[in-house]
Amino acid sequence: MSNPVQDREDKDRELVDRFGRRVSYLRLSVTDRCDFRCVYCMAEEMKFLPKPQILTLEEMYAVARAFVDLGVEKIRLTGGEPLVRRGILDLVARLGEIPGLNQLVLTTNGSQLTKYAYDLKRFGVKRLNISLDSLQPKRFKELTRTGDLQQVLEGIEAAREAGFQAIKINAVVMRNRNEDEVLSLVEFAREKRLDISFIEEMPLGVISEHSRAEAFMSSADIRQQIGKEYSLAPTLESSGGPSRYYSMPDSKTRIGFISPHSHNFCHLCNRVRLTAEGRLLLCLGNEHSKDLRKVIRAHPGDDAILKQQIIDAMHIKPERHHFELDQEPQIVRFMNMTGG
Ligand code: SAM
Ligand code: SF4
Repeated sequence: MSNPVQDREDKDRELVDRFGRRVSYLRLSVTDRCDFRCVYCMAEEMKFLPKPQILTLEEMYAVARAFVDLGVEKIRLTGGEPLVRRGILDLVARLGEIPGLNQLVLTTNGSQLTKYAYDLKRFGVKRLNISLDSLQPKRFKELTRTGDLQQVLEGIEAAREAGFQAIKINAVVMRNRNEDEVLSLVEFAREKRLDISFIEEMPLGVISEHSRAEAFMSSADIRQQIGKEYSLAPTLESSGGPSRYYSMPDSKTRIGFISPHSHNFCHLCNRVRLTAEGRLLLCLGNEHSKDLRKVIRAHPGDDAILKQQIIDAMHIKPERHHFELDQEPQIVRFMNMTGG
């Protein structure tokens, strides 16, 4: 139940950490499950969490609401694959109505978009990120293990027709796996009038398919490849995250580079993540966390306690991450657990 006096007081209690960074962005992983098994993200045989360990949609809504009351303006739904969570549209519809939440956005592998794009837009999702690492059907299958390229391309079309403010393609580039498709992916984005970001692979979870160190492609290498074909001008835009954007003179498509290794962005960090089991992660590259599921289940319906716990958690947000490619991953959780 919303209380106007409490709401006013909450606005004065913004989420600021020990280093003066204000947290205004929550990435909410609504499930650890997925219909794909991307080689850099998951093992082929995955054990997913038992249902009672996952937050209910009601619990997710309560946490999201508490964050917005504390000044969070942007929420990204992610996973796992957010669109395989049963009831996801009900959650989206409720989140879309929270006053003060300026940007509700979603990251998806695109496989369910023919079914959901229209309703996502209708219920208040402003922008979509869609992952696409290859335009070759056979390779797409190899990289995702279970994915069907055609289905994703149709999903992208459905999203374009639904009329989102912006759609961005996310591509993880790996040496000797899909590095030769960088220019085709840029061309695809230009033709479809979408933005595109290239992501450096991060050492989250132990994988067996390739050596992350050998497959590593830096953003600088990718940018150089694109620069041979297109003239790229840096933009000033910042997401408070690891992305840097470039524009091209002859197209509206912007090209982003997400470089957790080669570009340290931690001093600008404005975000935290909530895992599907309710663990509040204060940093992608560290294990510092707070169990909000325990808080909600011990004090159901008590927003004041939940908010105080969130405020207290800001004190343990680490200053920065340290990703090392040539060591065993220090972070053993996979990206689907973390909420990408
Ligand atoms: N299933 C959705 C999707 O694929 O877009 C949302 C979750 S996924 C974990 C979010 C993003 O993280 C995707 O763009 C994916 O490519 C990226 N990702 C997953 N594992 C990664 C890793 N080890 N390094 C870099 N990016 C990764
Ligand atoms: Fe699923 Fe996304 Fe991970 Fe691929 S990157 S396995 S689509 S969660």
